Amino acid sequence: MDDLVSLRCKHCGAPLDRKDVESDSPYVTCSSCGTTQQRVDAKAYMEQMMGQIQSWISKAIPGGFSMSQTENVDSIARFNIFNNNIRPRIETEYTEYKFAANSLLANPLIVLPFTVDKSAVPTHKSSSAFEFNARAKSVEPLAVDEASKTIVTSAVEMGSAYALLINNAKLIQEDTPGRYALMANNFKEAASSFSKIKGYAPIGERFEALAQVAEGCDKLMSGNAMESSQHFINGRDRLAAVKDKISTDLNLGLMFNAVSTEATQAKMLADMAAFVYKSGGDAMKTLDVIHRIFSFNYPTTGKWGYLLGNKDRFNEVFENISAIMEARNGGAMRITAGSGQYLVPFWDVDLRYSFQTGSIFGKKSVEVTEDLLVPADFVIDQQCLSDPASALTDIFSIRPEKSILAGITGKETSISGGEGIGRLSEASMNSPGARKIVLPLSTKREAEKVVNDYLAVRTSSDNKLKLSKPYIKNLIYIPCDVDGSLRAPSGFGALVPKRIPRTSASQLIVI
Ligand SMILES: [Zn+2]
Repeated sequence: MDDLVSLRCKHCGAPLDRKDVESDSPYVTCSSCGTTQQRVDAKAYMEQMMGQIQSWISKAIPGGFSMSQTENVDSIARFNIFNNNIRPRIETEYTEYKFAANSLLANPLIVLPFTVDKSAVPTHKSSSAFEFNARAKSVEPLAVDEASKTIVTSAVEMGSAYALLINNAKLIQEDTPGRYALMANNFKEAASSFSKIKGYAPIGERFEALAQVAEGCDKLMSGNAMESSQHFINGRDRLAAVKDKISTDLNLGLMFNAVSTEATQAKMLADMAAFVYKSGGDAMKTLDVIHRIFSFNYPTTGKWGYLLGNKDRFNEVFENISAIMEARNGGAMRITAGSGQYLVPFWDVDLRYSFQTGSIFGKKSVEVTEDLLVPADFVIDQQCLSDPASALTDIFSIRPEKSILAGITGKETSISGGEGIGRLSEASMNSPGARKIVLPLSTKREAEKVVNDYLAVRTSSDNKLKLSKPYIKNLIYIPCDVDGSLRAPSGFGALVPKRIPRTSASQLIVI
């Protein structure tokens, strides 16, 4: 057992690096969890672990077999000892750890700088998984045939990989300095372990990719956007490849959503880093923008909770931010004409409805198509959530009577007032230039919900008004000005969403 390791982290159970083991310092730092401890404590922990392993072996092999005698025992005897005494115990534990590791793998295991994710909750402590790894390693000399060797290798590598990922699950729960360097180490080692377990090769590739992303984050945090960019690009491309591979794999399909989330994060980071170094921008400032998006307290209960409390929504948010970064890096986005210096995102929504008009004997049905515009950062405005009419161009407000259909004379071609909005929504692909871009923070589904909520309120008393489902076309950017608060261009006429003027400049999340 000499080659096990000579020191173990008393906090997480990880083997300590050779350089720490060999140094003269009374303190050692774990490269897996980052804890600094006294050398004597790490030594004491290791001795305790070895004692436990020895007593486990004694229980498994009656008759007082000592591992140090293995070399003197012939291979038939070793084969029998392994298969009769060791194998059932190792296999039971292996199954348990494999199951727990698989459920951890179903969570995204990387987070953006300055953000945390508490959703991955491992079943075990890393010290238990490292102990299992050490136990399995201690019986390696007893595995003489291929089948036994496969079992031991799988157990050794699964124990180690799982333990390392438990440490990473902890590191993404807390925003501590230096965490990305630790995560990159853990991902690299976990990747190498998974690549040795049959059927887990794509998982190994996933963690190689995440090691790249973590390394990129480490570089970006230290201000090196250019170097970080290459890591993000590698991570992004590898994650995309893993995603393709596992989409058809029944066993690994359960981590598909997690990998998708990781892939979108890597893509956004790649776009962000490119933006920062191409524009000579400030990495910290850009990261702070991301921080603001994630640290915002979106409601997780109430009628918006099921949408805003769902983390998958950030995939779409990342994609939209990536598209902005691409536009910033020389691309284009849908922008309408205008001179404002702030490009404000709006969801462009098609609404069709029909209503009956005419006298009792000459009724006819009138069909109307309207454009509605929804400021795409409405989700950070509590008032928009409770009063949907303030989150969009309130086209039915021109008929403030109790019923929209009340008082119809028979000549109407429309009972809403959005005619002018159509022109505003005529956006074409353009470069944002030097203008500031306000980030879209809502998803299509959320835009659809706010429109539906609005229609439910406005048209509740008009059961003869036939509405079709609102169709959310896309995001467009309308140039606005800022004068203390946001100012909509004159094209909105009387239909300026209330969200716009009540947005103070300091609330805007811009890039
Ligand atoms: Zn540790």
